[in-house]
Amino acid sequence: MTSILNADLHCHSVVSDGTLTPEDLAARAKANGVELWALTDHDEIGGQHRAAAAARAQGMAYLTGTEISVTFADTTVHIVGLGFDPDDAQLAQGLAATRGGRGERAQEMAAQLAQVGIKGAYEGALQFVGNPALISRTHFARFLVETGVCKDTSEVFRRFLTEGKPGYVPHRWASLGDAVRWITQAGGMAVIAHPARYKFSANEEFALFSEFKQHGGRAVEVVTGSHSAAEYVTYADMAQEFGLAASRGSDFHSPDESHTDLGTLPLLPGALTPVWELLSDRILR
Ligand code: AMP
Ligand code: MN
Ligand code: MN
Ligand code: MN
Repeated sequence: MTSILNADLHCHSVVSDGTLTPEDLAARAKANGVELWALTDHDEIGGQHRAAAAARAQGMAYLTGTEISVTFADTTVHIVGLGFDPDDAQLAQGLAATRGGRGERAQEMAAQLAQVGIKGAYEGALQFVGNPALISRTHFARFLVETGVCKDTSEVFRRFLTEGKPGYVPHRWASLGDAVRWITQAGGMAVIAHPARYKFSANEEFALFSEFKQHGGRAVEVVTGSHSAAEYVTYADMAQEFGLAASRGSDFHSPDESHTDLGTLPLLPGALTPVWELLSDRILR
């Protein structure tokens, strides 16, 4: 397998904060020409068997996936896992622990929003939740759009759900080493998700990449819906500098909200090693 492959290895279903089922995502990926797909729900692998079966029904190759929330240098970083055993008990346990604080955090978010006059946000957000163990900021954003407080979810994040804003509750997620180990021990490969999204200094970013490698991380997202064309080049260089393979994924969440659809990004630059080349024996067909 080469980089000349329409692989989309990052998206979300109703099992986390997406709005489509794994089956609808598989059909959409196939219709958009995706040849290798992974569903990467946040902190959750409960949709993996459904996604793999749906991919197979569509005649599309599949890699298991997840996106783990990590706290590194006081910042939330996302680590994608690909090609792991979806029945691995340690990975399941680690993810359950990572998800564990979400309910309480959501209650605190609602309490803060109530102080600025937005009532009932916890119950409101819950109406958008597909998986009760996974209430996320995205579900609050959908509630605030539905009730007309904001015109779209980006505005909600800007005004309410990011650091320093009235609905933002700091949270401690998994450690970088734990997340990489859970994925690796389950037979998968860890990937730094959308590195350009983190507001790191050059030193902090260097520390993230070096520690990630030391823990056994193998790849970085280069072409993602969260990067500009210039950032593809920056992180293609970073991948080569750190000897990491490269991944590609839309980070698609919803037809109404996501600006990048499944399978529509540019292909990976040819000089890079695609992560799926290292995972060829983990691909399900
Ligand atoms: P949580 O895991 O609950 O902190 O929620 C994080 C999720 O919020 C991300 O996975 C995105 O789906 C969404 N998100 C984060 N920042 C933004 C933003 N600026 N605009 C829209 N969605 C965002
Ligand atoms: Mn999300
Ligand atoms: Mn992410
Ligand atoms: Mn994502």
